Amino acid sequence: MNRIRTGKIAVVGAGLSGAVIGRELAEAGHEIEVFDARNHIAGNCHTERDEETGVMVHVYGPHIFHTDDREVWDYVNRFERFMPYKNRVKTTSNGQVYSLPINLHTINQFFGKALRPDEARAFIEELSDKTIEDPKTFEEQALRFIGNELYEAFFKGYTEKQWGCSPTELPASILKRLPVRFNYDDNYFFHTYQGMPENGYTEMVGRILAHPNITVHLRTRFHRDLNGDFAHTFYSGPLDGYFGYQYGRLGYRTLDFERFTYEGDYQGCAVMNYGDAAIPYTRVTEHKHFSPWEEHSGSVCYREYSRPCGPDDVPYYPIRLVEDKAQLGQYLARAAEETSVTFVGRLGTYRYLDMDVTIREALDAARLFLSGHAARAPDPERQASSLKLAAACLLEST
Ligand SMILES: Cc1cc2nc3c(=O)[nH]c(=O)nc-3n(C[C@H](O)[C@H](O)[C@H](O)COP(=O)(O)OP(=O)(O)OC[C@H]3O[C@@H](n4cnc5c(N)ncnc54)[C@H](O)[C@@H]3O)c2cc1C
Repeated sequence: MNRIRTGKIAVVGAGLSGAVIGRELAEAGHEIEVFDARNHIAGNCHTERDEETGVMVHVYGPHIFHTDDREVWDYVNRFERFMPYKNRVKTTSNGQVYSLPINLHTINQFFGKALRPDEARAFIEELSDKTIEDPKTFEEQALRFIGNELYEAFFKGYTEKQWGCSPTELPASILKRLPVRFNYDDNYFFHTYQGMPENGYTEMVGRILAHPNITVHLRTRFHRDLNGDFAHTFYSGPLDGYFGYQYGRLGYRTLDFERFTYEGDYQGCAVMNYGDAAIPYTRVTEHKHFSPWEEHSGSVCYREYSRPCGPDDVPYYPIRLVEDKAQLGQYLARAAEETSVTFVGRLGTYRYLDMDVTIREALDAARLFLSGHAARAPDPERQASSLKLAAACLLEST
């Protein structure tokens, strides 16, 4: 029978998952030890000032906060001031710059027309490949929605570079809806709340972790042998890594960032995608545009390259192909046996999670744990249900 022991709680990972769980439990009176193998907090959301230019840099790639979850929005605003920010992405294709997501401006510019919304809708309908009745692949789905020209210019090359495979090998489900807007709205996200932390994500996470019951150990890799020292462990590291890669490594894509500086404004926007297959990088991020309220004469940019993730690389995007899902099932079964460990976050549950979803799930995991713990004599059933949370999330997303 599993009983929650009293004593310290280990939180593995000082990213958003670990910080939010640690804070919730610390506020409820628990003593928390947070471990992170890196030399900084905030996980993949880490931001720091570039020494040469003074620009706030999104070290692991561009991060824009967007959500419809009011509680999560209030939560982040409690720890950091969020500045208004709209994500407007451009793309370069065949030597021309277009607006994304594909909208009326993109269509009119691409085809040299001046169509109104209804006309554009009819025009795209005409371009769509109606011979494809039951699209099975990403490519077929895109062709059925928008036809070959837009697909080639905006999806094909980019997707090949991003995922390292042909769009004919990816499932149609990736493109669920018509990826086109028939107006001039170029705000990338639809969410009610959108913003950028005034002093970066690391500052925000630092404030979440700043609680007298929380001790943070950086440069400290946690191994499951340490579980015995703690009443419970919340683990936001890689699921396969926890089990010593017993069933092999779950597939990820990793990213390489090629840093360069420029005096002035390099590209006039934060993110410029490159759709052509001949250009080896997927996008260029110019970090100073994430903080339009700051002034910097110099500029720092990252060219972003995507490739398969090796054993020593940072895992970024879970691939989740058929073989990964089979392995995932094996790890899931092992995770369910670990009754004093809760697997959380993007790596612990092997899913792509936006920051707002990460925070929502972290709040829920902490509350579920606390609701079991609040009882004087802990109820093993409730405890078990808290431990099943990650597994349920896993199953839902497979
Ligand atoms: C390129 C990219 C761009 C993104 N852009 C956006 C965006 O624009 N908007 C958005 O909402 N979301 C975005 N995201 C998602 C966002 O990064 C995640 O939501 C967030 O990082 C998840 O936080 P986490 O705490 O679960 O994981 P992480 O941030 O990965 O934190 C996990 C931490 O655990 C540590 N760790 C792992 N194993 C161990 C161990 N054994 N011992 C000690 N420490 C360990 C790691 O060092 C890491 O610091 C993006 C993701 C990527 C990859």
